[in-house]
Amino acid sequence: MLTDARTSPSAERLVRALRQAGLRLTPQRLAICRYLAETPSHPTAQEIYRALKPEYPSLSLATVYNALETLVSLGAIYALGDAGDDATHYDANTEPHLNLVCVRCHRIVDLPHQAITQLEQEAEAQSGYRILGARLVYYGLCPDCQRQAASATNAG
Ligand SMILES: [Zn+2]
Repeated sequence: MLTDARTSPSAERLVRALRQAGLRLTPQRLAICRYLAETPSHPTAQEIYRALKPEYPSLSLATVYNALETLVSLGAIYALGDAGDDATHYDANTEPHLNLVCVRCHRIVDLPHQAITQLEQEAEAQSGYRILGARLVYYGLCPDCQRQAASATNAG
């Protein structure tokens, strides 16, 4: 049985956001928050659903989408758009960073960068906006897929 003691600080942030939005904190919603906070993999709604369904048989895909949309609307997580696989990927890391998307295996990794922190500070200073988040996505081929493409070429 998972208890509140196992909720990480970052999951706490997401749980607070749901509570603030007036959503009831069901075990399913808490599990979604924990999963988002702990995975480095930028999951889609389907991936979250598949990962949690065995432990939460009553979980529905609609519940997952609903929680994700609420968290996105509050700026607690980011919707990254698709990674070449026609499914929206979600990112619970709201620190300034780049997302690098592999168009072949659809893997997404985070790349923190000082220049992005600086860019956000300058954008705030010049516009008077308070920046709540950013979506910076670079598309390319990851090192693994580059190696595979190279060996396929050599073999052919
Ligand atoms: Zn790849």
